[in-house]
Amino acid sequence: MSQKKCPHCGQWSEWSNNFQDKCEHCGEPLSKVELDRAQKIANEKEQNEKNWMFYVHPDDSSIVKFFKKSGNLFYMVFMTIMTFLMWLIAALPG
Ligand SMILES: [Zn+2]
Repeated sequence: MSQKKCPHCGQWSEWSNNFQDKCEHCGEPLSKVELDRAQKIANEKEQNEKNWMFYVHPDDSSIVKFFKKSGNLFYMVFMTIMTFLMWLIAALPG
């Protein structure tokens, strides 16, 4: 256990090197920078997943997840083939 000075109230709090730890005096996050960064990474990850044809929601039932993942896989294979065909057409001498 280490201690960290709260950026909000200036008091020292117990800190387990976890950015989710909160100040024991005022309840503010002890490491807001890391917290924001982690939030941003989580948002970007979610954004990437939503770019898939079927967004697999954490609340979906397993059968729905299965169909969505299959759909995404099919979509990925389809796009790969299309990209290859585009490249082939472009590479062929006119
Ligand atoms: Zn505090």
